[in-house]
Amino acid sequence: MDLWIALIVYVVQGIIFGVAVNTVIENKGYHENWFWEGFFFGIIALIVAVSKPPKPYEPMRESPLLKKSYERQGVSSNNWKCVFCNSINANNVTTCSCGKSKEDSQQKIKEAREKKDIKNVVQKEAYIIKIIAQYKKLLDAGAITQEEFDRKKQSLLHK
Ligand SMILES: [Zn+2]
Repeated sequence: MDLWIALIVYVVQGIIFGVAVNTVIENKGYHENWFWEGFFFGIIALIVAVSKPPKPYEPMRESPLLKKSYERQGVSSNNWKCVFCNSINANNVTTCSCGKSKEDSQQKIKEAREKKDIKNVVQKEAYIIKIIAQYKKLLDAGAITQEEFDRKKQSLLHK
């Protein structure tokens, strides 16, 4: 009977230490499970857990997509790039050493992107016109009918 009591005490004590050690380690920012260390090593594990330095803050890992979008803007999670002088500035720096602000820089990147979008549209348009002109040549040469030309033209223009 005494053996059973001793075993129950051992298990209860183990659980208490396990939970305590795990709580201490989680409060220090570690995403680790120390329950069994606490269960088996009791007070020793608790001392080890308490004396462990808190885990240094780690920013959450960003999704690759978000990171890519930041890279396009010349900005990583911790810094931003000044487009005027190409300096990399920490996020808490709002004005670059060249005198331009973070907002100025981001605005310029935005404008550049819009300009590029317009350029892409113009290029696509020019490409379609070129193709239509080639079909017109085929039509004039009698290789395709007016109807075929019209159909092709419609489909190209509404792509
Ligand atoms: Zn700058």
